[in-house]
Amino acid sequence: MPSLLRADVWVSSRLPIAVQRDGQSSAWSPITCTLVHGDSEAVLVDTPISINQTEELIRWIEDVAPGKMLKYIYITHGHGDHWFGIPLIQRRWPQALAIATSATVAHSQGQLEPGIFDNVWSRFFPDQIYQPQKTAEPWPSNTFTMEDHEFRIVEVGHTDTHDTTVLYVPDINLVVAGDVVYGDVHQFFGEANTTSKRQEWLQALRTIESLNPQTVIAGHKRAGTVDGVFNIESTRKYILAFEDAVKTTSSPAELYQKMHDLFPTRVNPHAILSGAMAAFGKNPYEFKKKL
Ligand SMILES: [Zn+2]
Repeated sequence: MPSLLRADVWVSSRLPIAVQRDGQSSAWSPITCTLVHGDSEAVLVDTPISINQTEELIRWIEDVAPGKMLKYIYITHGHGDHWFGIPLIQRRWPQALAIATSATVAHSQGQLEPGIFDNVWSRFFPDQIYQPQKTAEPWPSNTFTMEDHEFRIVEVGHTDTHDTTVLYVPDINLVVAGDVVYGDVHQFFGEANTTSKRQEWLQALRTIESLNPQTVIAGHKRAGTVDGVFNIESTRKYILAFEDAVKTTSSPAELYQKMHDLFPTRVNPHAILSGAMAAFGKNPYEFKKKL
């Protein structure tokens, strides 16, 4: 008889960003890390960014799954804010294998290139990201197991970036959605900057729905919000609203204001900035420029 599987979600603090944007200070969106565990083993999905956050996550894992062996760290997509904690987690659990699709690993390696690591991550979070860094390793299959439970990697294409995935755990009807689904946090459109990419994102939401999950964990969520399937619909509504706002506004500042007004309770309005700039053909990574 297979073990009883359960899952817990950790939500990170909002890490202050050292670079001002539009003359304002800001902080990163809260990041979720999901621990799926059985009788004696566990799988962690995604990590946070900084050394302090990752140390906090490690203490949390020790608390909710004491004595369990971390077998895999699965990384949903290549953005560094979902995997920079890998080397610290592996220092604590040396046997844990960090895995991802080959496309995610290739994307992750790109995040360590000076153009992105030095220009974005190090400037945002100076001296807070563990060094030396280590990406996940490419996993040669779309499934893996833990205590006879199957974990399915589902590739869903371009969502908040290219080559994203979700992790489906059929035995508990769980989808760990990475940044395909957001939980009451402003969505990132810095890379989903065309209608066709946003269409792909909508298709990814339909793919998740076709799995018929009972629980859907967003990659960024407001602490305390429930991991219900309603998050799929609210993510879809936000994409459609953004698509409409792109067509009905004439500048990044107007687009920013419109999304801000439409979704006043979502966490981190600063996350709108990159998408607003990218939608009007501007470089979303030029932080010093005012809108
Ligand atoms: Zn992302």
